[in-house]
Amino acid sequence: MRRHDKEITDRGSIDTIIRKARVCRIALCDGTTPYLVPMCFGYDGRSLFLHSANEGRKIDILRQNPKVCFEFETDCEVLPSDKPCSFSMRYRSVVGSGRTVFVEDLESRHHALQLILRQYSDETFILSDKALENIVIIRVDIEGITGKQSRV
Ligand SMILES: Cc1cc2nc3c(=O)[nH]c(=O)nc-3n(C[C@H](O)[C@H](O)[C@H](O)COP(=O)(O)OP(=O)(O)OC[C@H]3O[C@@H](n4cnc5c(N)ncnc54)[C@H](O)[C@@H]3O)c2cc1C
Repeated sequence: MRRHDKEITDRGSIDTIIRKARVCRIALCDGTTPYLVPMCFGYDGRSLFLHSANEGRKIDILRQNPKVCFEFETDCEVLPSDKPCSFSMRYRSVVGSGRTVFVEDLESRHHALQLILRQYSDETFILSDKALENIVIIRVDIEGITGKQSRV
């Protein structure tokens, strides 16, 4: 990272950003064309979990190329200025890369959906097998991850 002073090296702090984030942006490679989708997600400290309809552009791409890049951000705040070139942004963000796997076995699919729910609610839900019909569960095994913050 060019700005070492802004790098977050502590994995606990990176995890805190992910746990606070509401949206995961997943970047895919459609041949030579980049494609990005915002998604809800779950996280277990090693992998991200996504759920989706079982068809569409993102699924078509992932079946061809499982490599993804992802991004989260929290605590974003515009810091205005009288001078246009002195506007700034306070933020904490995470960028990483990984490989996706379509999760097939029922128990793991249940677990993944619970993790996604846990990201957004403190309640515990009982999920029926029916909730898993017609959706795909995607696990992103994280291969690299960095954190950055701007406190200006
Ligand atoms: C905050 C947020 C959370 C979301 N959470 C989920 C989730 O958990 N699971 C999930 O499956 N989807 C989620 N979505 C929707 C997701 O972003 C995609 O729209 C959806 O997954 C369909 O993707 P697709 O590639 O199958 O699109 P397709 O239906 O195949 O359509 C492809 C085309 O539609 C356009 N497109 C696709 N998505 C978007 C979009 N979000 N905004 C504008 N244009 C778009 C693109 O131009 C693309 O070429 C979320 C969206 C938002 C904003």
